[in-house]
Amino acid sequence: MIMEHSETDLVIIGAGPAGLTAAQYAARANLRTLVVEQLAPGGQALNIDVLENYPGNVGVENPDDPEGGRGPKSGFEFSRDLLGQAERFGASFLTDSVLSAAREGNRFSVVPGSGKPIGARAVILASGAKHRLLDIPGEAEFSGRGVSYCATCDGPFFKGKKIFVVGGGDAACEEARYLARLSPHVTIIHRRDRFRAQKALADRVLHNSGVTVRFNTVMREIEGEKKVTRVVLETNGKQTREDADAVFIFAGMVPQSALARSLGAETDEAGYVITDQRMASSVPGLFAAGDVRASPFRQVVVAAGEGALAAHCAAAYIDNLDGGAYPAVFPG
Ligand code: NAP
Repeated sequence: MIMEHSETDLVIIGAGPAGLTAAQYAARANLRTLVVEQLAPGGQALNIDVLENYPGNVGVENPDDPEGGRGPKSGFEFSRDLLGQAERFGASFLTDSVLSAAREGNRFSVVPGSGKPIGARAVILASGAKHRLLDIPGEAEFSGRGVSYCATCDGPFFKGKKIFVVGGGDAACEEARYLARLSPHVTIIHRRDRFRAQKALADRVLHNSGVTVRFNTVMREIEGEKKVTRVVLETNGKQTREDADAVFIFAGMVPQSALARSLGAETDEAGYVITDQRMASSVPGLFAAGDVRASPFRQVVVAAGEGALAAHCAAAYIDNLDGGAYPAVFPG
């Protein structure tokens, strides 16, 4: 049985770029919209130093400014503006984690950590993904004491120090480039012989004289006493122990899709939620957008676009439940 609820039309779980854009579109479509986010709005975008690849985010020239104006917004500024927009259009926000969700008939019950369950006609899961751990000795022990998963958050603590970056994707390449502005001793450790990252990002690292790249190398252990002091690396079966002050790990992401799975939604083998082109999961009324969704390209602009589409189609779905005017989006 579903318990007593506060009622709304749409619950959006997660307030990264996908959730915040969905909130804006849903509220503009006159849906009563509640966004539930356990951390600060913005998600992973908060960690982006300069959001240079979001279309139109080019900054403003200002001839009166001695520095000539300002460049593209940071991920923090971008998230703040997205949040403000969603609020101005009427979306509500709850800072809480979602413990569980259930579906009975055409209605969802979303249970936050505190307070009473929320009833909703549709749910958009925009809960993103979290960092994959390397799972090597020393990683957990020195987390926050030299081991980090966010260069813009922790890089400034290691100015001029010996920094290792682990991974070969977009994140590793971008963050290594950022770290190279803080220290001339940045080394990327990647387990294969080429980067997975987009070519433009990989090339910037390969041509950056401040970054040393070591392919075919695996980090086996992180050592230290109170903080990181050494790492154990293995190349072609040969182990070396090297001095280190910091290890930044970018080994990919793990989707936060447990709620979708608990509702019976289909996921791919890596746990990402499978949707159709309307962002609709295999569970009627449950939509997914952003990094939690199975997608070949995870970018802020993609997340925002998926959020808009999910909100539009959630509105159509609700309208369809009421016998409304969107038969082309949700026929039958
Ligand atoms: P990713 O593309 O999945 O890359 C993860 C990297 O970590 C891969 O190079 C992988 O090696 C390596 N790795 C995984 N497990 C490992 C292990 N146990 N030990 C050592 N290395 C390991 O993840 P990401 O770079 O975090 O990017 C995630 C998504 O966000 C991507 O879709 C990406 O495009 C997007 N993103 C975009 C931007 C941007 O456009 N500016 C910036 C950041 C992230 P293998 O290559 O050998 O598998």
